[in-house]
Amino acid sequence: MAGPVDNNTNLAPAGATPDLAPTPGGLPPILLAEDDTVTRMLMTKMLRRAGHEVVAVNDGAAALAALEKRYFPLLLTDWEMPELDGVGLCRAVRERSFPGYVYTVLLTSRDTHEHIVAGLEAGADDYLTKPANEAELMARLKTGMRILDLERNLRAATAEAERLAVTDPLTGAYNRRHLMTRLPHEVERARRYGKPLAVVLCDIDHFKKVNDTYGHHAGDEVLRAFVRYLHTETRAGIDWCARYGGEEFVIVLPETDVDGAMAAAEKLRQGAAALVVPSGEGRNISFTSSFGVCIGHGADSPDAEGLVARADLGLYASKEGGRNRITLRR
Ligand code: GH3
Ligand code: MG
Ligand code: MG
Ligand code: MG
Repeated sequence: MAGPVDNNTNLAPAGATPDLAPTPGGLPPILLAEDDTVTRMLMTKMLRRAGHEVVAVNDGAAALAALEKRYFPLLLTDWEMPELDGVGLCRAVRERSFPGYVYTVLLTSRDTHEHIVAGLEAGADDYLTKPANEAELMARLKTGMRILDLERNLRAATAEAERLAVTDPLTGAYNRRHLMTRLPHEVERARRYGKPLAVVLCDIDHFKKVNDTYGHHAGDEVLRAFVRYLHTETRAGIDWCARYGGEEFVIVLPETDVDGAMAAAEKLRQGAAALVVPSGEGRNISFTSSFGVCIGHGADSPDAEGLVARADLGLYASKEGGRNRITLRR
């Protein structure tokens, strides 16, 4: 089941960082597009000497094909080439998306203002007149690497902010806001494809007593252990779990019918009751939990609020009925 802690099972993704795996020397790999054999060899040698891994191709179309197979953070391209020229390549690169930014330097023997402007407008980040001076080329690549670093940091920070926005900080489960954003999409899908959708609401029994007996900190540990358990016992990448309130969690089981949902809830009820959480003061904490289950059936499924409300009625009945049990509300 998914919740936003990443153990590569069913939790929310950790900040996805593009594959910027540097070469053994620590520098990003370079894709070089140059149709002139001698220039291509000289440039390749120069760049390798500086510590870059270099993949060299002889025109823009081959460069594009190489980029579709593997992400290159740095692209160095000649302007005039057969098939697809450097400006065409820059344009094609900007129209596509890659795992990270492709910092592009255009090599040109054309250095009029109009040409430079045309190259930059096509999407080149920088240009260099040929024959390239080694020191200048290296300095410009360094600028490119600085920008790639900034872009990568920004991407990681954005991914982390996105993760935090959907995560309950105590347990790592999804938060309630995410539940109420995502569940309607699950309902939509279930309705469109005529699939069942199960919503299970569970609440730890007498949790106030856990806090009163062992302290709030131990109570927090119980919540974490409970969520960890939910995550390990549900289907990775399919089911997901959100913290609905203090010690109350919603488990969403797509494409799950009554029998499947009741079996899953029963497994969770028994498994959670068997958990033993160390109190931190040498004592062991055990607890039970109560469940409410509701199933939406394809086009007839209630909306997200309706499903949770019915599961809540089921949970209420389980509490009234003596706790540590499951109640189905259709
Ligand atoms: P019931 O069986 O009826 O569910 O009883 P209960 O004691 O579990 O339910 P009640 O709603 O009376 O109490 C819930 C308690 O959960 C009270 C609240 O202080 C505690 N709680 C809520 N959030 C947290 C939290 O983040 N950490 C800890 N340690 N306790 C929490
Ligand atoms: Mg050329
Ligand atoms: Mg409770
Ligand atoms: Mg409660």
